[in-house]
Amino acid sequence: YAKKNKLEQQIYNQQIDGNTLDRLQLINELKSAIDNEELVLFYQPKLDLKLKKVTHVEALVRWRHPDRGMIPPDDFIPIAEQMGQMNALTRWVMNESIDQYLKWKSQGIELCIAINISAENLKDVHFCRYVLDLITEKGVPIEVLTLEITEDAVVSDPENAIKQLKVLKNSGLKLSIDDYGTGYSSLAQLKQLPVSELKIDKSFVQNLMVSADDQIIVSSTLQLAHNLGLSVVAEGIEDEGALNWLIERGCEMGQGYYLSRPLDAEKIADWLANSPY
Ligand code: C2E
Ligand code: CA
Ligand code: CA
Ligand code: CA
Repeated sequence: YAKKNKLEQQIYNQQIDGNTLDRLQLINELKSAIDNEELVLFYQPKLDLKLKKVTHVEALVRWRHPDRGMIPPDDFIPIAEQMGQMNALTRWVMNESIDQYLKWKSQGIELCIAINISAENLKDVHFCRYVLDLITEKGVPIEVLTLEITEDAVVSDPENAIKQLKVLKNSGLKLSIDDYGTGYSSLAQLKQLPVSELKIDKSFVQNLMVSADDQIIVSSTLQLAHNLGLSVVAEGIEDEGALNWLIERGCEMGQGYYLSRPLDAEKIADWLANSPY
């Protein structure tokens, strides 16, 4: 028995070493992924539930790895964060998505773009300046961009983060709190952030039709947010029931697999042409 245990331990150790090696390799490769043009953006429609029209898309990054295939962001964003690569990554995402905005515009498609930013971006004192300069340089109206920020991006250095966010907000950029409900901050604390939009995390929306608790959480969040003058986006809408439930309760925007999965840029035009929105 002891022998078998030892063998298991050896196999286990090998697996750990294997994973560590794998991870180290990924870290090294990530550094050149941008230069090698291996990153790609997918776009997921954000539906305006009042206008019944897609006005925005959220840019979501993927890594098209030459050997490993498509790597989802949850598998490499945390590594990029630890490696100090997020400033480079976010800058790439912004450049790429503004170029895509312009490309769509030249095809007669008007879609504002939401971009995810991380804690590291807000710690970079040049972040604000970079964003504003980029918008000027590309010649796009500032309302074209929404920045989605999770509360953990703010908590580690709230003073500096709030300072940067205020400059961006005052310049006309739209700011949104992402994954609302999964962190530890209260809405009262989050209200100190200069944001105009709140995204209810998909974990409260996915099972809306079968969970009385989720219904209570979402409807009270809607009320509270509206009373505070925030507009609300529900993410993770996976069925028609949830969509209608949210429309009936005055939720401003919706996003989720029921409407559309994230699509590559070319497919967005087809999707728009064939959807009722
Ligand atoms: P997120 O910002 O909360 O994005 C929403 C995630 O939920 C996306 O996963 C999207 O594909 C997925 N989703 C959308 N609708 C549904 C639905 O109806 N059901 C379910 N189950 N899932 C849905 P994705 O693309 O894998 O991105 C995961 C996370 O990676 C994002 O979560 C975001 O935190 C991060 N991320 C993605 N792109 C970027 C980026 O460019 N920069 C940064 N900093 N983070 C990014
Ligand atoms: Ca997001
Ligand atoms: Ca989210
Ligand atoms: Ca998330």
